[in-house]
Amino acid sequence: MNSDLCNRCGSCVGLSNGIITFENKTGKYLPKLHGELSNELADRIWHACSGKEFDFPFYRKKTFGDNINFHNYTGVYRNIYIGHSKNEQIRKNAASGGIISGILAWLLKNKKIDGAVLLRMSENQPWMNEPFIATTKEEILSAAQSKYTISSVNEILPEIEKFDGKLAYVGLPGQVQSIRKLQEINYPSVKNIKYILGPFYGNTLHFSSVKSFLKSYGEKDYTQINKLYFRYGEWPGNMRVELKSNRIIELPKFHANYLIPFHILKNSLLCTDLSNEYTDISGGDAWAPVYEERGKGFSMVISRSEKGQEILDEMIKENEISLNPIEIDEAITMHSHGYDLKKRGTFIRMKYRKWMGLENPDYGYTNKGFSFSRYLMEVMIDIMFIVLGTKPARFLVEKIPPHIIGGIFEKSRTIWKKSTHKIKREKLS
Ligand SMILES: Cc1cc2nc3c(=O)[nH]c(=O)nc-3n(C[C@H](O)[C@H](O)[C@H](O)COP(=O)(O)OP(=O)(O)OC[C@H]3O[C@@H](n4cnc5c(N)ncnc54)[C@H](O)[C@@H]3O)c2cc1C
Repeated sequence: MNSDLCNRCGSCVGLSNGIITFENKTGKYLPKLHGELSNELADRIWHACSGKEFDFPFYRKKTFGDNINFHNYTGVYRNIYIGHSKNEQIRKNAASGGIISGILAWLLKNKKIDGAVLLRMSENQPWMNEPFIATTKEEILSAAQSKYTISSVNEILPEIEKFDGKLAYVGLPGQVQSIRKLQEINYPSVKNIKYILGPFYGNTLHFSSVKSFLKSYGEKDYTQINKLYFRYGEWPGNMRVELKSNRIIELPKFHANYLIPFHILKNSLLCTDLSNEYTDISGGDAWAPVYEERGKGFSMVISRSEKGQEILDEMIKENEISLNPIEIDEAITMHSHGYDLKKRGTFIRMKYRKWMGLENPDYGYTNKGFSFSRYLMEVMIDIMFIVLGTKPARFLVEKIPPHIIGGIFEKSRTIWKKSTHKIKREKLS
């Protein structure tokens, strides 16, 4: 399989009894085979792979049944809200409104789960993330916040299988899709998973982003990192590195976004799922001036399954979360940039790839009928990603102080967003 198709969900590693491992996690981060897989194991791994294939319509029906609200961009939804956890500690610690951590803490407190599969920064290697099973509120809170470097959560499948109790699971769309595939064949590793939650997903970055960020500040050795945060402090937060030398490096999130075009995981550009469509509940940032100006974190929350809706209804009744319903059109408009990238851009990119003879994922559906200007816009975006992803471009950007390149990036992004606003919003909802 073409490596661009691998979303690094980690299922192949988790299912392989040690025969497949990820190589070079601070580099290309690709799975490597160390021996022979039995036919049965190879078939199972192939089935679980969501990078190669995930039939959206089939799994939509399997997961949520019929008679459902559905939009091609958001996936299945019961209700869409803007809100936040009412627990100030959870909200302050979290990526946006603390909805995901808040729900997990509530599920645990009410004994609806005994643990949660989450992603935290490693204690031994604080520059790397690692999946684990949280069994206390403190552990749930320790995993809050978004980690923007590659995460392979499903490596933990053997531990999930051994866990004695009910679990919630949090993952990115490719990881969730793989879990849904395993649930469909009643695979034992996933039988404990009762609830699936997940963040929205624009993209992830290679670890080279962290190395490059450090180099720009004159620090060459990433093993000197003591703590790494991607969204530290007041929403939307800062990228922050604390070094063993006590030096602290911090850059506002919107400026640190300059790293995206230089270090993006190519698979992010082949993913068509922005809002984590196969979760029971998913959460993203509430990107709108009215919320951004208030400073504190606000999330967009989508309830999709009956049990997901029940959780939110009970939490509202118990005054644990604040949620205001919004209409689907408002939700799509708020994330028009992301939906355009995923639901239009990806299909155009896949068309270009097909012309070049490159393999594409099979999602069981396609979107088409875009304007000529949208195709042209995609050419510009793709050229930018290709050029900025090269070694010389990465080398050069490290010579510019991040607060300068970050500022330039943010301004250019605003100009680009304004000038492409009409093309992106055309017939969006
Ligand atoms: C890689 C990535 C890209 C994102 N892109 C967008 C975007 O384009 N637009 C948007 O609106 N929102 C995006 N988000 C979501 C956003 O950053 C918040 O995670 C979301 O709003 C939920 O906020 P919260 O306060 O409820 O979550 P929190 O309460 O902070 O909980 C976050 C949960 O997500 C888990 N988690 C964090 N990082 C990862 C990861 N890499 N892999 C698996 N699990 C993880 C943690 O274990 C934690 O349980 C992205 C998140 C990630 C991780």
